[in-house]
Amino acid sequence: MKIKSKLSLGLAFLFAVIILLGGFSIYYLNKLSNDASVILVDNYESLEYCKNMLKVLDETSKDASALNNFEHNLTLQQQNITEIGEKEATSELTKHFTMFKQNGSEELRVLIRSDLLDIQEINMLAIERKSIAAESTASKAILYLSIIGAICFLVVFTFIINFPGYIANPIRHLTESIKEIANKKYDRRLHFNSKDEFGDLAHAFNRMAEKLEEYDSSNVAKLLTEKKRIDAIINNMSDPVIGLDENKKIIFANKEAIKVIGIDEKNMLNRYAPDVAATNDLMRNLIKGIMQQPDSNDTSILKIYAGNKESFFSKDIFKVTSPPDKENKTQLIGHVISLKNITPFKETELAKTNFLATVSHELKTPLSAIKMATQLMNDDRIGKLNAEQKQIIQSITDQAQRLSNITGELLDITQIESGNIKLNKQKTVPASIIDYAVNSTKPAADQKHITIETKIAHALPDIVVDSDKTAWVLINLISNAAKFSKENSKVIVSAEKIDNKIRFAVQDFGKGININDKKRIFERFFRVNNSSDTTEGSGLGLAISKEFILAQGGNIFVESEEGKGSVFSFEFPIDSNIL
Ligand code: ADP
Repeated sequence: MKIKSKLSLGLAFLFAVIILLGGFSIYYLNKLSNDASVILVDNYESLEYCKNMLKVLDETSKDASALNNFEHNLTLQQQNITEIGEKEATSELTKHFTMFKQNGSEELRVLIRSDLLDIQEINMLAIERKSIAAESTASKAILYLSIIGAICFLVVFTFIINFPGYIANPIRHLTESIKEIANKKYDRRLHFNSKDEFGDLAHAFNRMAEKLEEYDSSNVAKLLTEKKRIDAIINNMSDPVIGLDENKKIIFANKEAIKVIGIDEKNMLNRYAPDVAATNDLMRNLIKGIMQQPDSNDTSILKIYAGNKESFFSKDIFKVTSPPDKENKTQLIGHVISLKNITPFKETELAKTNFLATVSHELKTPLSAIKMATQLMNDDRIGKLNAEQKQIIQSITDQAQRLSNITGELLDITQIESGNIKLNKQKTVPASIIDYAVNSTKPAADQKHITIETKIAHALPDIVVDSDKTAWVLINLISNAAKFSKENSKVIVSAEKIDNKIRFAVQDFGKGININDKKRIFERFFRVNNSSDTTEGSGLGLAISKEFILAQGGNIFVESEEGKGSVFSFEFPIDSNIL
């Protein structure tokens, strides 16, 4: 039965109970009122007539009107016979009164009085009986009404207690089940067996849950397949790849990674990476960047001994972030460490370095011979040269010098690449390095009428550096400054103490460097695009300078603004310059 019908039926039942109680009450009230009115009207009137007749009975011998009055009341009594025995008593009274009217004997008067008392008694008894009957009707009414009232109360009470639950319980079950479904517990079902709207609701809900369960399991299956596919791809990658979650737990590591790191898969996966790193140097090296700066990507080169051979890997750490949420915020959800085997490139680079070193070295001897030959040619003792020949010899000298510079730089870079920089650190006065560098570059500066100004701070402490290499760097910076400055301008070379460091700086007011080129200025073979058009160079000077300064524990910087000039500077810490 539908809830609507049940509700209507329930209300109809309550209505019927009210009608029933009302009907009963009206019926008994009516009955009681009838009984009372019967007592009042009939018996009371008979008593009244008898009382009147008794009153006038003694006066009938002297007063004719009293006789009439008696007769009148007798007539009324004759018409008001209601009780058993009353008729006979009234007939007796009538008979005695008729005889009394004829002879007026005192004996008859006594009889008449006795008759009247009889009638009165009959009516009194009747009143008493009817009163008892009325009382019993009243108590019956009270009893029946109490029974019916009690039954109705029980039924209505049960109805009131059960009805809210009948509606609320299924709704509560439904609410709980919806919450469970929201928590992805799709196996939740409703068990309402009734054939009403709740039954329909449960059926619809269960169907929905079934569909969601189906959808979810098919999604899980799909996700598992996708995961297997991704696992297979990662495993088949020829380069080692390791994945960490946001808590630095290792969530995947492909076969190559396991091979290179040298730890079993089961001792690696699902473990906190620093725990694994505690017993493995390579792992420690791999996660170093993540532990220090989890929010940045990192790229560096690692030398690894695996399978009894030295291999080189470039390490890339990518931070993985969640897609942007509604507020366009992303969250760090892990890191991927990727190693790329660059051993073949390293080997090629080594071959190149060796080749360059050999070529540069081999060029030195013929170059020295050429330089020597040109010097001899310039000697008047060998023979006088005409102006044109002198110019040719000068050109050969210049180009030989240039070639010598380039081979020198190439040799330096090969030394750096092979990690063979040999430093000869000695206690040095900063001013002496500057003097040497300025004197060496002055002739070239003079040619462009460029003034080299020196600003050396007073009482600078000595520094412990390789003075040749440091002077080489300063010469390179001053040469560049002069090279990229206009004629008649100036170059300022300075040395000062900043905090616990000695800083050397070369400032020019030339063409400057744009922001993009500035980023790459210290790279090997890098030259600003248009500089090759007008000036000569290999693009190695600044790269070598950087390596020379870094090798001595210093740092090198550039500040520049296009069109306004540049400041190249390098600094050495004073404290660490102890032999
Ligand atoms: P190069 O031998 O070509 O001078 P460097 O490594 O010394 O090689 O310099 C690289 C490039 O940096 C140069 O080609 C030049 O374009 C730019 N550069 C270096 N110094 C300066 C400077 N003081 N002002 C402007 N550009 C400069």
